[in-house]
Amino acid sequence: MLTLADFERDALAALLAYGEIPCLSPMYDATWAENGHLEAAVELLADWARLRRLANFDVAVHRLAGRTPLLAITVEATGASAGTAILYGHLDKQPPLGDWSEGLSPFSPTRVGDRLFARGLADDGYSTFSALLALESLEAAGTPHSRVVVLIEASEESGSPDLDAYLEELREHLGDVRFMVCLDSGALTYDRLWVTTSLRGIVNVAVTVGVLSRGQHSGAVSGVAPSSFRLLRQLLERVEDSRTGDILIDELIAEIPDAHVEAARATAEEFGDVTVADLPLLDGVAPMGASATERILRSTWYPTLSVVGMGGVPEPEIAGNVLRPFTSAVLSFRLPPTTNSADAARAIVSTLAADAPEGAAVDVELIQAADGWMAPPLEPWLDDALSEASRVAFGREAGFTGEGGSIPFLASLASRFPEAAFVATGVLGPDSNAHGIDEMLDLPTAVAVTNAVSHLLASFAAADEGR
Ligand SMILES: [Zn+2]
Repeated sequence: MLTLADFERDALAALLAYGEIPCLSPMYDATWAENGHLEAAVELLADWARLRRLANFDVAVHRLAGRTPLLAITVEATGASAGTAILYGHLDKQPPLGDWSEGLSPFSPTRVGDRLFARGLADDGYSTFSALLALESLEAAGTPHSRVVVLIEASEESGSPDLDAYLEELREHLGDVRFMVCLDSGALTYDRLWVTTSLRGIVNVAVTVGVLSRGQHSGAVSGVAPSSFRLLRQLLERVEDSRTGDILIDELIAEIPDAHVEAARATAEEFGDVTVADLPLLDGVAPMGASATERILRSTWYPTLSVVGMGGVPEPEIAGNVLRPFTSAVLSFRLPPTTNSADAARAIVSTLAADAPEGAAVDVELIQAADGWMAPPLEPWLDDALSEASRVAFGREAGFTGEGGSIPFLASLASRFPEAAFVATGVLGPDSNAHGIDEMLDLPTAVAVTNAVSHLLASFAAADEGR
């Protein structure tokens, strides 16, 4: 088994160097191709990968024109095995989001105890290190593994627009994919292996309400020219009840399977009110939902709306008395795991674009639509392997939980390899702050997840043998 000391010796320096690279995902960095940060990150990880002590492996950086690069590390089987296992991670990062806390910085990693703070280490820079160290420790112990292809993409935080093209290019190389482990998911606690049972889908749209060709003195024209903000409120009321937060579009509403309601109840019983435990709610702010169970379901199965950006609105310090010409907002909808995102996107766009209030110029643009995912029932070998992996690596049974976030490619990956067994897991536990300020990687958890991955790969190879 890998120890924290092993991880520190073999991976820490490279992980820290990766932490210094501002390799933002293309959606957040229009100049990514010119500034070369993604390229620097993929080269750094590829260089580290080439140093691994593995019997028979190949490190390749694939570059399709106009797309972010893909790192593919192919490790040949050390036991009799017909199938390929894919270990997935990504190297592109979210933007810093805002000012980080005193003493922390997004692109200058800081270690506090056994926790590393920097953008992109937990989401999802650790994945390359975990995947290859998991294989290295199997080979060092003489434990057989199947053929494994580690795929590290660089467009995940933009909705993985480049991944499919590479999967197509590598179709033959990947071969008969029978097992996939996605190392980009969350954990409810740091004391066990957490397996993701569902993910929500996502639809992002930008809506702009225009009323004037240029701003006017609000004293002179208000009361005659309609306010674009007021009209935007009307549009938002069509999609969300502002008193309750309930989504009002039928296409976004799904029934929650009994097993998932039951699982939420069990999680609430064991862990209490987990969804609010680490939530930095201001004093007096009431969380939504009537119970801990309902809150788990609300955050994993309910459709929701978050207004994640606004335009046409000055910062308060420079706000003059102007009736502004337009207001725009970026709306981020989360969808139930089983909702079809294309249908949902169509319904959202048509609801917002129909019958412009007071004849305003309403523009609705679809930014992104991606399906959620619901895990298929576990094959018996995998059910056993997950609980063993968690016991071996963490000393506790595995946990199973839905995730509120989205991993856009997961649904398409699952449909591309319908025969493959699928596990989504990761290190994003409490206070890991993926996408927020102060992102943190808990190193002991990264080590334990690595050991769990070793165990899963060994079990896959053994199960494959028995087929
Ligand atoms: Zn991620």
